[in-house]
Amino acid sequence: MTGTPLPLVFDAPARGKAPKHWLDLGVDERVEAIGKLGLPRFRADQISRHLFDRLEDDVTRFSDIPSAIRDDLGAQLFPKLLEHVTQRTADKGATVKTLWRLHDGSLLESVLMRYPGRSTLCISSQAGCGMACPFCATGQGGLKRNLSQAEITVQALAANQMLASGVVPGASGRLNNIVFMGMGEPLANYKAVMGSIRTLLAPSPTGFAMSARGITVSTVGLVPKIHQLREEGLPLTLAVSLHAPDDELRDEIVPINNRWKVDEVVDAAWEYARATKRRVSIEYALMRDINDQKERAELLASVLKRRGDWGWVHVNLIPLNPTPGSKWTASRREDERTFIQTLERRGVPVTLRDTRGSEIDGACGQLAATVQE
Ligand code: SAH
Repeated sequence: MTGTPLPLVFDAPARGKAPKHWLDLGVDERVEAIGKLGLPRFRADQISRHLFDRLEDDVTRFSDIPSAIRDDLGAQLFPKLLEHVTQRTADKGATVKTLWRLHDGSLLESVLMRYPGRSTLCISSQAGCGMACPFCATGQGGLKRNLSQAEITVQALAANQMLASGVVPGASGRLNNIVFMGMGEPLANYKAVMGSIRTLLAPSPTGFAMSARGITVSTVGLVPKIHQLREEGLPLTLAVSLHAPDDELRDEIVPINNRWKVDEVVDAAWEYARATKRRVSIEYALMRDINDQKERAELLASVLKRRGDWGWVHVNLIPLNPTPGSKWTASRREDERTFIQTLERRGVPVTLRDTRGSEIDGACGQLAATVQE
């Protein structure tokens, strides 16, 4: 990658749009863009092959492209999008969290997790987040700006480069899974997120050739956008951050609930599952004495059961990762156990998420928050 290093500004206001990049473009737009540089269309495939097959984004290494035009190509379509700030590892190196800085000083983080035989990347869709969930570090900072399509996709490129370079012990091959569970609300940046997903799914040489089933879009519950996602007709995995089965509590801990209620969100999720045949994941972060009572586990089971048998849904319990200075904290072991048992007794498919990376501030937005302090 090329480019001048940016000054170390951690809390700079957003300054306009990200520079245009190859990763912002669809297949036809790429042909058009290189046409403007005086290149014939077959060059588009050559360039994409460098990027998606060889994971090379340094145009000076595009050896089959005439050197006279590589500079123009670099300046106009391959600007440096991510500046590496810090990297932290946990789980004996199997979890790598990287903090990046964007052209305008905004911070962005992504977490790479290696499991036996596969690897998952947690990526960000916005700089900051406007959803204001009080237990979430990112939510406290507010929204800085939407990421561009390229700024989203380039996180996958960087992770694939990391895997290829051997930084992650025991890793080989490419990313298998991507979860939109980093900073931001992906469905509030719909166009860029979908554009990025299309590039992740596109076959070689025009994209990363990933499988739709390997991509999880996690939402706070923007109901019209869940419908829109369903209408894309792609078997993407949908995760809904429910966190409470009743409106009274959800209004407080997931403020967008004041706009779309529990029933509307669960209905939209159910319709998604029905149309795509993909099991929806209901995310539920267990918070001590807030949402972890046995009665709420019963109510959660009833709310989900109302939409038919258990085939459509799965509850993913997340031990709350406390943010320093916040009143929100993780549930007691015994409450956690009772919550799980209550769901299991009602037949609800339930898992407790592993706490990968919690010692490196792995929860949503925490690394960026630490650096900003
Ligand atoms: N905006 C999307 C993606 C956000 S992060 C969404 O709301 O789904 C992904 C998940 O992490 C969400 O379920 C979010 O509620 C959860 N999360 C945020 N802060 C957390 C914390 N401190 N501990 C545990 N989970 C948290």
